[in-house]
Amino acid sequence: MSTIRPIQRIVTGTPQTDGAGVRLVRVISRRDVEDFDPFLMLDAFDSRDPADYIRGFPWHPHRGIETVTYLVSGEIDHGDSLGNRGTIRDGGCQWMTAGSGIIHQEMPQASPRMLGLQLWLNLPRKDKFTAPQYRDLSGDKIPRVQEDGVRVGVICGHYGATAGPTQGDYVRATMLDVEMAAGSTFRLPTDPAETVFIYILAGSGVVGEGDENLASHRAVLLGSGDVFQARAGQDGMRLVLFAGRPLREPVAWGGPIVMNTPEELQQAFAEIENGTFIRTSANPA
Ligand code: FE
Repeated sequence: MSTIRPIQRIVTGTPQTDGAGVRLVRVISRRDVEDFDPFLMLDAFDSRDPADYIRGFPWHPHRGIETVTYLVSGEIDHGDSLGNRGTIRDGGCQWMTAGSGIIHQEMPQASPRMLGLQLWLNLPRKDKFTAPQYRDLSGDKIPRVQEDGVRVGVICGHYGATAGPTQGDYVRATMLDVEMAAGSTFRLPTDPAETVFIYILAGSGVVGEGDENLASHRAVLLGSGDVFQARAGQDGMRLVLFAGRPLREPVAWGGPIVMNTPEELQQAFAEIENGTFIRTSANPA
């Protein structure tokens, strides 16, 4: 017998300004680490006014995490210290493993609507110093499975027999973009050992077996069970589902760097100061 996961927590997030002046909603953050482990942070963007985001996120470091940026619509130019340059466009994703250290910039370009999100996925202690890597998962690499009233984009992991372009190299994760027509139901078997949460991008609907109609722009953490279930309201619903096994390791978080101990954080900031943050053959991890 299967158990449908109930709602454990609904998170609305707080409007914030980050980078050089980008207005976003910080949906989950450090106060949520215990509940959402292995997921650290979720920032959501939804704006029709380029003034909200055009100043972007100029050059800044990351270590110890993966940053996953997914755009339903809009355009973000990217560059990093590995020499990568690229643009995330409609329906595309950028999966960046910061590992031992990367310096990058993320610069949204003016578009009719910028709608998307950035997720921070933690790295296990043993992989904090893995080699940094950048993956451009453009929209044509993300399979979209069309079913009765539901279309599922597989960004990471599997949906049934359909594999996404990555499975998560460090934390095996699932990330699905689920577009639901009005009144449709989506059910997904989920590993009971995994943390599962969704972010409602648009529309509204009911999650679990409850009857509360949940509006867009909120995250819902699911409780224990082995099936995720949602039913779209009268305007349909679009959600992104995230699942992954918790790390249950200590978290030492300083801005863009997430390690396990305060000493590792101090080391990272000292290296930024003295110019040894980026690993090279002359400066190995
Ligand atoms: Fe960044």
